[in-house]
Amino acid sequence: MSAEVDYVIDGAQVVSGQAIIEASVAIDQGLIVAVGLREAMPPARERIDASGLHLLPGAIDSHVHFRDPGYPHKETWATGSAAAACGGVTTVFEMPNTNPPTGTIEALRIKQKAAESSFVDFGIHGLLGDDTIDRLEDLLEAGVTSFKAFVGNTFGNLPAPSDGALLEGFEILARHGIRTVVHAENSSIMARREAQLKAAGRHDPLAHLDARPAVAEIEAIGRVVTLAEWTGARIHIAHHSAADSLFVLREAKRRGVDVTVETCPQYLLLNTEHMRLLAGLMRVNPPIREPRHNEPLWQALHEGVIDMIATDHAPHSPEEKTREDIWRCDCGFPGVQTQMSLMLTEVNRGRASLMDYVRWSAEAPARAWGIWPLKGRIAPGAHADIVLVDLTRESRIDQRRLQSISRITPWHGRRIQGAPVATMVRGRFVMREGELVESARGWGRSVKAIQNMPTPRPRHVETTSRAIVASGAGWPMTARPAEGAQEQVWDLIDRARHAPHSTE
Ligand SMILES: [Zn+2]
Repeated sequence: MSAEVDYVIDGAQVVSGQAIIEASVAIDQGLIVAVGLREAMPPARERIDASGLHLLPGAIDSHVHFRDPGYPHKETWATGSAAAACGGVTTVFEMPNTNPPTGTIEALRIKQKAAESSFVDFGIHGLLGDDTIDRLEDLLEAGVTSFKAFVGNTFGNLPAPSDGALLEGFEILARHGIRTVVHAENSSIMARREAQLKAAGRHDPLAHLDARPAVAEIEAIGRVVTLAEWTGARIHIAHHSAADSLFVLREAKRRGVDVTVETCPQYLLLNTEHMRLLAGLMRVNPPIREPRHNEPLWQALHEGVIDMIATDHAPHSPEEKTREDIWRCDCGFPGVQTQMSLMLTEVNRGRASLMDYVRWSAEAPARAWGIWPLKGRIAPGAHADIVLVDLTRESRIDQRRLQSISRITPWHGRRIQGAPVATMVRGRFVMREGELVESARGWGRSVKAIQNMPTPRPRHVETTSRAIVASGAGWPMTARPAEGAQEQVWDLIDRARHAPHSTE
C-alpha cells in the first residue's frame, strides 16, 4: 500500500512534445511522482477530475519585464507574476532594464527582494553592458541565471554595449556556459533614421517601423552570431521579428553555433495592416512588420530555426500607450497572460499541433536555460509545474481582466478558443478555475538552484582579453628596434633559406 500523495489528476489528455496520451498524474511534495493508468495511482488527499481537459507542462517565458524595482505604476513582481499564473506560465525570466538596472550586486539584491512576492518560479537576466563586464562573474555568483545585452536600444535608456565589450562579455560567459539574451537591432542605424524621420515631421505609427528596418536586425544578428561562434558563448535571440534575418540563424545553427531563438505572438499574428487602427498600442521593439513576415516566422518555428514562444511582456500605463505622437508612446505591452490563449487558438485553427506548442512553450526554453529535465515536461521526478487547458472554451480577450497593473493591450477584443483553467507551480495551485490563488503569493522560487547548463565550450581561449593581458612575458619591454636590427633580420632569413634542412 503506497502512502497518500497530495493530488491525483484523472482523465486529462497529457501532452508532451512528442505525444498525447490519456493518463492520470500523481503529485506529491511539489513533484510529479507517477503518470499512468487511473487504477494504478496511489491514494491522494485530493482527487481531481480533469476529463475533457488537456494537461500541459506550464509555459516557460524567457522574456518578461516586471518593471520592479523602478516603475511600480507599470508593473510589480506580484502583479506580473499573477498575470503569468493566470496565463498558464509557471516560470519566467525577467529582464534587467529596471531602475536600478540589474548590473550591480546591490541592484540584484533589490530585485531578488522584489521577486519574493512572485507567484511563479523565475530566473533573473543580469545586464551585460560596457560597465558590467568586470562584474559578470560576481553577478552569476550572486544569483543571475543568464544575461541580457541591449544591442538595440529600448526602454530604460541603457546604452548598447560596444562590440569590444560584447566580445569580452562573451569570452567570460563562454567559460561558464551561460547564455546571453540579445536584443538584436543595430542602434546606430536606428538612431540616424529616427533623427531624420523626426526632422521630416514624421510622427505617425509607421514612422516607428521606418526607423527600424529589417536590415538593422540582420546586421545585429550577424554580428552577435560572429562573436558567439568565435568565443563559443551561448546566445539567445530575443523577439525575432523579420523574415529576412532567418537565413543568418539557419546558417549559424547549421554550423553548430549554440543560438536559441524566440518569437512572440505579436510577430506571428499582427502586422502593419493592424497598425493603422491600433497605432501606439502596437509600438514595440523590434517593430511589428509588414504582412509578408508572419508566415515565414511560423515556418521557422516548424523548422526549428525559431525554437520557442516568449512574450516580451512589457507593460506601460494606458496614458503612456495612447499619446498623440508615436515617438512618445512607450514601447511594449503586456503579454504573459494572453500568450497561451492566443497560441491555443492557433492550435485550434490548425496552425500547429498541441505537441508543437508544448515544444515551443515549455521544452525548448527549459533546455535553453538549463532547467530541463526538472522543468518543461510531465514525467515522474519533474517539478509539478502544470497547466490544465480547456481547448473548447471560447471567449474574447478582455483587458479589464488582466492581472497586470497596465490593463491595456492590442489583443483586447480578440476572439479566442482555448484557455488555461488551472495552473500549478511545484505542486501548488497558483490559479484555479480561472481565478488567481492569492495565498500563493511568494510561492515562486529562483531556478538558479536547479540550473544546470551543459558543459561550457569556450573557443579561442588563447586570444581572450584576459589571456592576452597576461601574455608577452619574455619579450623586450621596448618597442624601439634593436641596434642593427634590419641587417640582422635579413641575415637570419638568408641563413635559414640556405640551411640544409630547408624545405626547398
Ligand atoms: Zn523585452
